[in-house]
Amino acid sequence: MTTNPFSLCDEFGPIKTVHIHDPSTGLKAIVVIDNVACGPAIGGTRMAPDTTLAECARLARAMTLKNAAAGLPHGGAKSVIQADPSMPIADKEQLIRAFAIALRDLTEYIPGPDMGTNETCMAWVQDEIGRSVGLPRVIGGIPLDDIGATGIGVAMATEVALELNGMPVKGSRIAVQGFGAVGRHAALQLCRRGARLVAASDSTGTVVNPDGIDVNALIATKNQHGELIAHPGVQVSGRDDIVGVDCDVWVPAARPDVITEANMDQLKARFIVQGANIPVTEAAERKLHERGVLSVPDFIANAGGVICAAVEYHGGSQAAALAAIEEKVTANTREVLEQARAKQQDPRSAAMAMATKRVRQAMKLRRW
Ligand code: NAD
Repeated sequence: MTTNPFSLCDEFGPIKTVHIHDPSTGLKAIVVIDNVACGPAIGGTRMAPDTTLAECARLARAMTLKNAAAGLPHGGAKSVIQADPSMPIADKEQLIRAFAIALRDLTEYIPGPDMGTNETCMAWVQDEIGRSVGLPRVIGGIPLDDIGATGIGVAMATEVALELNGMPVKGSRIAVQGFGAVGRHAALQLCRRGARLVAASDSTGTVVNPDGIDVNALIATKNQHGELIAHPGVQVSGRDDIVGVDCDVWVPAARPDVITEANMDQLKARFIVQGANIPVTEAAERKLHERGVLSVPDFIANAGGVICAAVEYHGGSQAAALAAIEEKVTANTREVLEQARAKQQDPRSAAMAMATKRVRQAMKLRRW
């Protein structure tokens, strides 16, 4: 069977696709550098046994658009290592170090953590080639999940979306699906701005109180018991009941594809602010838009993490990262929603247009 090796290429990239095989360590990896017009490409290294070139290329393109939409001087790339991430740690270190050495001359690519890799893996990469993001604090990293980089951005995006629609954050009722790094920080930040957390969920269930849940107490319950359903003074129901909760803003911060055409009619919220990646299927997002539900797309609302990683790469401080998240997420959400309104588009189309325009502008500035 012959397949066209350039079948994944279009006007943006990928500019380089590298297959790495090191028989002595058993390393099998793929690197897709999609586009570097805006600058060296940042993108995660995923470790999983069932990774493919097509998945890697799709994720690399998503990073090109996400970094451009965030206004970062970085292109997009992704890499996958075909292996079980739960292997013994010494074997994992050897594999990651072998991978890093193979990346030495691919200087347009800066790896970061993704599924199956973490800040320790990035420290090994840094040690080998001096180039990675998502590092431990002790060697200059900014721990983006601890400081709530993405959740803070989600809260900023919510604030802009509500304001542009004449609704103050103060007093708005929010429901958050997923209470991990993104969900809990989004909830905390929105409550600090006067919003009322009426419901939250994790993988064990949904907790509801229409009068409002004390977010700090809920975080304490999650930390202490590992599950939200242990929280006192709330109605407890099934994990997926969060979808139909009566609220103004629904924040998905758990898994992809949680809202589909099958359950979208349960949603009561007027606003969806996408903390998770692709939480709403394309068809459901389109139909919800037609029904008047405003969705702030994932790569605009959850860009706090990539912004933080870029600030870390350029040697900036935690305070600089937080300032950059505020400035960029606020400005980009405003621009996308205003463009969508002016052109009578859905926000995702406006966001895609903004990101591709920035990549095209940067491409024009290159020699060819
Ligand atoms: P996390 O692992 O810290 O938290 C995930 C939370 O979701 C947990 O509370 C878990 O119990 C809950 N959960 C899992 N399945 C669920 C389900 N079916 N229903 C309800 N809750 C469920 O993860 P995170 O870092 O907070 O990331 C959340 C999502 O946001 C992921 O999709 C991730 O890809 C995306 N994201 C994260 C970042 C980041 O900076 N961490 C940046 C961009 C996008």
